[in-house]
Amino acid sequence: MVEDWKSYEPLIIPDIPNLHRIEVYEEHDGYRAFRRILDNPEEWSRTNVTNEVKAANIRGRGGAGFNAGLKWSFMPQPDERPRYLACNGDESEPGTFKDRNIFEFNPHLFIEGALIAAYAMSVDVIYVYIRGEYIDWVRIFEKAVEEAYEKGYLGEDILGTGIDIEMYTTYGAGAYICGEETGMLESLEGKRGYPRIKPPFPAQKGLWGNPTTINNIETLANVPLVINNGADWYQSIGAEDHNGPVLYGISGHVNKPGVYEYPAGMPVEDLIYDVAGGIRGNKELKALIPGGTSTPVLRADQLEGVSMDSNSLRDAGSMMGTAGMVVLDEDTDMVDLLWRITHFFHHESCGQCTPCREGTGWLEKVLLKIKNGEGEIKDLDLLLDMTTQMEGRTICALADAAAWPVRHTINRFRDEFEERCKKSVHAVA
Ligand code: NAD
Ligand code: SF4
Repeated sequence: MVEDWKSYEPLIIPDIPNLHRIEVYEEHDGYRAFRRILDNPEEWSRTNVTNEVKAANIRGRGGAGFNAGLKWSFMPQPDERPRYLACNGDESEPGTFKDRNIFEFNPHLFIEGALIAAYAMSVDVIYVYIRGEYIDWVRIFEKAVEEAYEKGYLGEDILGTGIDIEMYTTYGAGAYICGEETGMLESLEGKRGYPRIKPPFPAQKGLWGNPTTINNIETLANVPLVINNGADWYQSIGAEDHNGPVLYGISGHVNKPGVYEYPAGMPVEDLIYDVAGGIRGNKELKALIPGGTSTPVLRADQLEGVSMDSNSLRDAGSMMGTAGMVVLDEDTDMVDLLWRITHFFHHESCGQCTPCREGTGWLEKVLLKIKNGEGEIKDLDLLLDMTTQMEGRTICALADAAAWPVRHTINRFRDEFEERCKKSVHAVA
């Protein structure tokens, strides 16, 4: 757990006016890491770059927490096929809104990280897929890409090295499933965003059947920090086995919702009460969804001594996810909350798999019945049974993401759900 966080200076979103402009970024050592690699290709061979990033243990910030350098190492040896890096900026999980800040305030840090990743994996084309609702941020980002081309960091013969890397920006049309990595690949290919069965993983068979790596925007923004300062330095920030800076998106019933950058491993209570200004109206904390709505909700009494890193959250019974923290006060109606979450997943299911297409629909229907005062106690066990019929039986993780909140919210707030059923029109007098 991190204790001395008050002296932390942001690294991903530092407080530097106009940092989104390339000349300001360069004045503050921007593109230094990329230049260093290109100027010293022996010291910084493609393998050495990958190994340094792997040693740093940048855990994927898109939700799954997979070691980024390890993922890069899954790319096959270069052959005659094109190779791609697809950058995932489609963040759509309720509670998750942190990549937006990178597009707005420090887009070149991400572009530099993507360039280093492309170099390490011998990639020649980078796609950046941005959530369609972020059209204003798409425009800001496109301007940054234009500047990087003008300065010779992108395009043909980058800085006279003979290396060619192109970057294309594209955006979604509002479907959550296009943020699932293989759904995003389908969408990039111009098709409906239907997730693909894995394996084969994208490194083997990605865009148009070619080797592809998918990384989240925040993940790639961490890469220049590692090259400039070394894996050991990066490892020293944050918690054991979960390190580096994290963009915490804090929403819900707090006085100061927003995106805050602090090390991984921040005490949950400090984030809620100090960083985000405490609970609105001085109310009591009832629960926390730690990392986007697919991560299991924790009751206030489960949060004592818990920090925002994967080990601590796992021991508490949840996950880090995207660090999109949804804070819930004492007045939160957990039945209503769960129905809303389930409505979202039902609406966003792509419909390919029966357990997901039908399961999310039935979860929503039964929860609506309970919410409307027509539920019975046996409906709670029916819901729990449905979650076991959905989990691990589908092409992508959306079914799991829909099942987990139902299981954990009912188990952790069973009294509240039972109370609602007992008051229902079906309750036996
Ligand atoms: P995952 O654990 O299956 O995979 C993580 C990454 O590692 C993927 O890129 C995958 O291709 C790669 N990988 C895993 N095993 C591999 C292997 N053996 N060989 C090669 N590559 C391998 O997780 P996922 O399904 O990609 O993502 C689910 C997560 O996404 C959830 O934790 C959820 O919280 C999060 N999520 C985030 C958002 C958002 O808005 N950011 C939205 C929905 C879900
Ligand atoms: Fe589509 Fe759901 Fe199957 Fe994922 S689990 S592929 S969202 S039907």
